Amino acid sequence: MDSTNVVNKSAPQAKPHFDDIFMDLAVNLAKRSHCIKAQVGAVLTRDTRIISIGYNGPPAGTHNCDEEFPEVGCPRDSKGSCSLALHAEQNAILYAAKNGSEIEGSTIYVTLSPCIACARIIYSMKIARVIYLHSYAEYKGIASDEGVDFLRRFGVTVERYVSGGSTTLLSEPPMSMQTR
Ligand SMILES: [Zn+2]
Ligand SMILES: [Zn+2]
Repeated sequence: MDSTNVVNKSAPQAKPHFDDIFMDLAVNLAKRSHCIKAQVGAVLTRDTRIISIGYNGPPAGTHNCDEEFPEVGCPRDSKGSCSLALHAEQNAILYAAKNGSEIEGSTIYVTLSPCIACARIIYSMKIARVIYLHSYAEYKGIASDEGVDFLRRFGVTVERYVSGGSTTLLSEPPMSMQTR
């Protein structure tokens, strides 16, 4: 056997960065969404610990878009988004607030950059940092990421996720970015 092809078991393995772990979780959470138009996941963290998680969808116990409207999809608001759903960020933040977790200074990982409504909430809750995977503007085909612009303008750190060098996301990014 050619020894150059043998993995050196004693070599230290590259450890995944927390950014990779939390974004991977957000991508997985997005897959739990019942919305047909878009599936978005969010993870709220502080000091490398998870405070809360969320994905987009109507409040628990109300609607499941994919089961109720399998043919026509989610009922749309004026911007073409699901009119019944709380956004992933909203679900994550609401759960943390309901349970008395300290949200100020936290970091939120989200698979789609925040819309302007979520940006206002993120700012109001004094979340310090937002890491997003996909661009809402690119997804919507609009010129600027108004939520990102708003957050940056008022001092919230916003970064687009880039896979950490040797590590890649374990999960596939959410697939339901279609515009049906
Ligand atoms: Zn929906
Ligand atoms: Zn939103």
